[in-house]
Amino acid sequence: MSRLAVDRVLSEISEQEVVDLTAALVRIPSVFRPAEPDANERAAALAVEAWLRREGFAVEVQEVAPGRPNVIGWLDGAAPGETLCLEGHTDVVTEGDPAAWRHGPWSAVVEDGKLYGRGSADMKGGLAAAMVAAAAVRRAGARFSGRLMVAALVDEEDAMSGAKHFVTTALGRMVSAAIVCEPEQNELCLEQKGVFWARVTAHGRMAHGAMPYAAVNPITAAGHFLAGIPRLERRIRRGVRRSRFLGVPHVTPTIVRAPIGHVAQNNVIPATAELRLDVRLTPGLEPGVVIGAIEDLARDTERRCPGTRITVETLEAPRPATCVERGEPIVTALEWAVRQARGRAPVFGGVPGSTDGTILRTALGIPIVTFGPGNRLIPHQVDEHVPVAELVEAARCYALAAVRYLSRRD
Ligand SMILES: [Zn+2]
Repeated sequence: MSRLAVDRVLSEISEQEVVDLTAALVRIPSVFRPAEPDANERAAALAVEAWLRREGFAVEVQEVAPGRPNVIGWLDGAAPGETLCLEGHTDVVTEGDPAAWRHGPWSAVVEDGKLYGRGSADMKGGLAAAMVAAAAVRRAGARFSGRLMVAALVDEEDAMSGAKHFVTTALGRMVSAAIVCEPEQNELCLEQKGVFWARVTAHGRMAHGAMPYAAVNPITAAGHFLAGIPRLERRIRRGVRRSRFLGVPHVTPTIVRAPIGHVAQNNVIPATAELRLDVRLTPGLEPGVVIGAIEDLARDTERRCPGTRITVETLEAPRPATCVERGEPIVTALEWAVRQARGRAPVFGGVPGSTDGTILRTALGIPIVTFGPGNRLIPHQVDEHVPVAELVEAARCYALAAVRYLSRRD
């Protein structure tokens, strides 16, 4: 890509346009509220669709669930080739108490170079930057092969049903590589943690609280199990290299519940107790290894608490951590783009959470990188905001990376 071509693409990206589009999307609340059919992603998705059509994209709307459409827009290059997907999501998490916000959660006020509002960073800002970037490629008449796609998916914040649907469609299956536009303060993130959730149930025998010798108390067993988790963590950490970006894997109890299925009473020893574990995996650690360690702790607990039975279930298919090599074309294209747009080398990083990218990686086997505007810690907080400078920088990097990736010869 010549300097002239670079400048032509960059000249099509204005701060005003990226800010206005981000603000327009933030002003459409798209919190998932199952009881309110007019909440959810529909209105935000329709705004994305209308904008993409106006800008000359081909568009497909995929109804994932009622009121919850994925919107996919794309531009075709001069010749067949690979498909690069700029991926984002249209849902946002709850605003919590609106009165706790300095500016209204749906106000999209810009103050001191920051745009405020729920979803400004996570991730209508990144989505808007991707949309403007792709439009700029078209307006500049940049030459490329294959397909440049923008995917605005639903339900990332909950079950990721949008991404799970997308990877089963013809458009999803053609994706060769993806940039996930989540807020990572424009660091070039090579890794994402994997995740699974496990339900551990202790089965005992119900009895009167005055006569514990007549019971098998599942709460005692749950306590033994919990006490064994630090040892379990040490064991799985011994088997994996510490990640430079993501540190070590974690097994974190997040829910403890007993009794199950009936009213809690002071004088009743319940029949069952339940724990939920939130397991975060780092690259190189297979989910099966951790499930095996959890099962071992369950057997150990049974030995220590005679009469109890411990069952372990994973709540949905585990998603392994993702990791992409520095030499992958999508990484080198984005690295080059950052140097062009910013005049210096990118900062490399890792994603502490798990985004739609883990679904794309697991289902399609494609390389993914995560790169997007907004402080990594700000999502889901009150006063969520995104720096305007990062919004514009992201759009510039996406546009150049797209042309570079789709015009390379190798
Ligand atoms: Zn997000």
